Amino acid sequence: MLEVKNVTKRYGKNVACDDVSFTLDDGSLTVLLGPNGAGKSTIIKSIIGFLKYSGEITVNGLNNKSVEARKVLGYIPEMPSLYPTLTVIEHMEFIARAYKLTDYKDRINMLLERFELDDKRKKFGDELSKGMQQKLNLCLGLLPDPDMLLLDEPLLGLDPHAIKELKNYIEEMRRSGKTLLISTHIIDSVDMLWDRTLIMQNGKIRANVTRDEVDGRGRTLEDLFFEVTEGVDKQAVSGGENEA
Ligand code: ADP
Repeated sequence: MLEVKNVTKRYGKNVACDDVSFTLDDGSLTVLLGPNGAGKSTIIKSIIGFLKYSGEITVNGLNNKSVEARKVLGYIPEMPSLYPTLTVIEHMEFIARAYKLTDYKDRINMLLERFELDDKRKKFGDELSKGMQQKLNLCLGLLPDPDMLLLDEPLLGLDPHAIKELKNYIEEMRRSGKTLLISTHIIDSVDMLWDRTLIMQNGKIRANVTRDEVDGRGRTLEDLFFEVTEGVDKQAVSGGENEA
């Protein structure tokens, strides 16, 4: 289980995450939905241990920056950071060695085939198109097969085949009991089997709902999203001077 408790992250005066708390239950798929700038990447980078913040984040009761927690947590960043002078296959082998994986060759082949990079094995990082870089970024994040995986806007820049493949892959991970957090600003991309959705806006979690809670009230996620995000906007406007 992953627990985020009262996490606040400031960039200077800008509060990117404001007293954020939520829990990811084991084996669940949680969607972190919010407009650009809501603070989604910031909370994900805090969980993975890249940022300093106030508050507490634990993985199975252990501090998220501990060696034990790091073994459980995986992360697929929004922006690929590839080595221009390493080939696709060298990137994959680099990650395999960094994570001390054994018997990884078949897994590398499977990922490169599924994401249509099989014929790009010998291409260097800077020879790949943006979409190919995104796909390699995904393959690198999926290779270690961690129990908990945080995916930051994973569908961005992918072609239709890769989107379909990634959605299938996510479903498979969910079925095999992985704990998943997927951030997105595109509501339509959340047609997968999610268990919980967190709606984030202006650094705060505005809604934390299970699928049953949304379905049970006969609403769609889109209804809820606009209710939560535009409701807040209307409140702000009604408190302003320009109220009609
Ligand atoms: P999201 O992922 O939801 O689009 P982010 O977490 O990237 O949102 O950003 C949240 C807020 O923090 C935004 O106001 C953004 O401008 C700010 N921010 C993000 N990263 C930095 C940074 N490295 N330095 C300063 N401000 C940042």
